[in-house]
Amino acid sequence: MARCRLCRNEGQRTPAEIYLPAHRLPLCREHFLVWFERYLERTIKAFRMFSRKEKILVAVSGGKDSLTLWQALTSLGYEADGLFIYLGIEEDSFSLLSRRAVEAMAERLSRPLHIVDMKSELGFTIPDLKKKTRKYCSLCGTVKRYYLNLLAKRLGYKVVATGHNLDDEASSLLGNLLNWNLKYLAKKYPVLPEEHGFVRKVKPLCRFTAREIRTYAEIRKLPYLSESCPLSEDATRPFYADIMDELEEKAPGTKLRFYLDYLRKALPLFAERKEEFLERELLTCETCGEPAVSSPCLVCRLKEEFAGAGP
Ligand code: SF4
Ligand code: ZN
Ligand code: ZN
Repeated sequence: MARCRLCRNEGQRTPAEIYLPAHRLPLCREHFLVWFERYLERTIKAFRMFSRKEKILVAVSGGKDSLTLWQALTSLGYEADGLFIYLGIEEDSFSLLSRRAVEAMAERLSRPLHIVDMKSELGFTIPDLKKKTRKYCSLCGTVKRYYLNLLAKRLGYKVVATGHNLDDEASSLLGNLLNWNLKYLAKKYPVLPEEHGFVRKVKPLCRFTAREIRTYAEIRKLPYLSESCPLSEDATRPFYADIMDELEEKAPGTKLRFYLDYLRKALPLFAERKEEFLERELLTCETCGEPAVSSPCLVCRLKEEFAGAGP
């Protein structure tokens, strides 16, 4: 049995319980937490995500990624508050359990948690969208991004952090590369600056695999919800994620190398010409005043449609 590398540095011979193949690092449970938080701090600094003076709004869903992010940022001494959007999915199960998970987490961290109800704010829920269209997952994503940005501004935060992990980033990078989706490739960076009415958006967990995050959440006994959204209809993402998992299995460290080398070597080439790749120019929605590609924006159009449809 390998010994914990960090214990060894301190002159102790503790057996390792966790092995991180991508980093070739055997660790005991305690040192895994130390490693995780140090690596998170280094990621925040390397990408200049935010400073300790800034207040951060963490978009929390109740799953392991966002709760891990909230916990680790708080443990590191950052001022991180939570925002939960109640999507109204399977009323008595998924959204309710998710809400309970984030409330338990806020109590554990003694940090403020903002809860907003999509139905009362926008007049519709995700199940309402599902009744209208088969492509509700992509609409759900757009509505959540819109709403997150608007709420961050309303609540006075300049930075929004989301729990996207390395598996998400590497598999979406692969999908976008296979389809030469230049618009997305040019923007694929873990920090999007504050501009054109958008607040700064950061992905501090972008260098952590889902497995590493789950290990952290389990050791820390976070009250996360392990079920995923029952409405999930996206069949392509798991496909790319499966391919990345297979590559990682055969050559540990592939996900991290693929993603970081893209950011270092290829992104600057795409980013130089990103204006050219945008299909449509950014406007300001005349109804809500938010940045959008059309006016009225998609969310305002949906609001109007559902208001006209009656209760
Ligand atoms: Fe929304 Fe689809 Fe994600 Fe469910 S799986 S939260 S419907 S994007
Ligand atoms: Zn150790
Ligand atoms: Zn609008």
